[in-house]
Amino acid sequence: MREIWILRLGHRVPRDQRVSTHLALAARALGASKMFYTGVRDPEFEGSIDRVRRNWGGEFRLEYIEDPIDFIMNVRSMGFIIIHLTMYGIPLNYILDELLKHEKFLVIVGGEKVPSEYFHISDFNVAIGGQPHSEISALAIFLDRIFQGAELDLHFSGGIYRVVSSKKGKYPINIKD
Ligand code: SAM
Repeated sequence: MREIWILRLGHRVPRDQRVSTHLALAARALGASKMFYTGVRDPEFEGSIDRVRRNWGGEFRLEYIEDPIDFIMNVRSMGFIIIHLTMYGIPLNYILDELLKHEKFLVIVGGEKVPSEYFHISDFNVAIGGQPHSEISALAIFLDRIFQGAELDLHFSGGIYRVVSSKKGKYPINIKD
């Protein structure tokens, strides 16, 4: 499975708490292994994602980053390619085959207006359609296309909750009971 890390720019408290939390939940559920964020450090956000990992398993981590440019340079030196999701980028359908030649990705997503340096520092600006929507939908589609659907069959080890899949009804189970 490819290694995908996410960098979320410009987190604001309280304005972005809900969207950033949903972004991290989508990242975790759809196969990314880590998410980093810049902006305002937010222990409440970090705590909520930590609780999800303890309850539902897996190894997903969320970390605050003070110097995102320095961070991007470091991650690049570790063999990651740098993707910036923006509607101004190359349409994903045109570039997917080239992206699939790589194994490690750092995916940058914005919130408030994204400074122009991120458009230049990235190896690929990638558009998920040419219309504005959201970082959550853009990331979810990107992950699904990179993992080619395999992320929907992921197993998260550890945690205390599981679901029993069912056509009708709702059957959550607590495996510690
Ligand atoms: N106003 C912001 C700007 O000037 O960049 C865009 C805000 S948008 C709500 C937040 C983020 O969603 C963007 O930074 C981008 O990462 C992502 N996004 C939104 N639409 C996208 C699209 N069509 N393709 C790729 N990413 C998109």
